[in-house]
Amino acid sequence: MNSRLAKLRHVAFDLDGTLYLGGRLFADSRPLLDKLGCLGIGHTFLTNNCARSRVQYARHLQKIGIDATRDMIRTSADATIRHLQTWLPGITTLLVLGTEGLCDDLALADYQIADMSAGADASPPPEAVVVGYDTTLTFDRLCNTAYWIGRGLPFISTHPDRYCPTDQATILPDCGAICALLESATGRKPDAIAGKPNLAMLEALFAERNLQPNEVAFVGDRLYTDIRMARAAGALAILTLTGETKRSDLDDCPASNQPDLVVEHLGELRQMLEESRVGCLRG
Ligand SMILES: [Mg+2]
Repeated sequence: MNSRLAKLRHVAFDLDGTLYLGGRLFADSRPLLDKLGCLGIGHTFLTNNCARSRVQYARHLQKIGIDATRDMIRTSADATIRHLQTWLPGITTLLVLGTEGLCDDLALADYQIADMSAGADASPPPEAVVVGYDTTLTFDRLCNTAYWIGRGLPFISTHPDRYCPTDQATILPDCGAICALLESATGRKPDAIAGKPNLAMLEALFAERNLQPNEVAFVGDRLYTDIRMARAAGALAILTLTGETKRSDLDDCPASNQPDLVVEHLGELRQMLEESRVGCLRG
């Protein structure tokens, strides 16, 4: 493991359950990011949660104590945009079941957002449906989205997560749960799911930053999104036990989806990275 850690040039992090939970930053997060800087290892943040735009994420991370710029953040909105550009290149108008943050990121990529309140009379009519983690969900919006899916438009889900982690006494149904409801109503599954575990999300990072897969680690807390993507893309797959996954969950996990490395918390990873680099500065 030391030789793999010693080769790293970049570490990409999941956010919720990995660096923080809700509004609570884990104590080990900042020291690890500082250590990466000291070792000359770059880092970025890759999250499936597209309720916030990249600009809103940068502000949120700064507020809880992590230095971040828009360029360091990729959400499933970016993966959705890449999917649309690659596979549905003629499309310009989208019906979006999602937050203003998601619509902002799609609009920045030159997509027109169809008027949800116009129902079947939307003008221009949408050419594809994008469903995200809509924390502004209403029954009318659900009905309208189901209508356009039922009309046979391309149906893209931003990510498969069934619920969003929280430190509050509640359950937050996420995009996967919303799509399950729409599937039940319309008989259609999404044609594509853009975010993790879709390895296109990590491959875009490799291409943008000129990185080889074996020079990159991905750190996350979910086996079925984070670890599956990292393994499929050939990056070092590091599972942290600070979020969804318990060590006992690994017993039922198929070999192809097992993490390369499991840490109790990011402090353990920081120590391992230090030990893998001969002559690195302590601090
Ligand atoms: Mg997570």
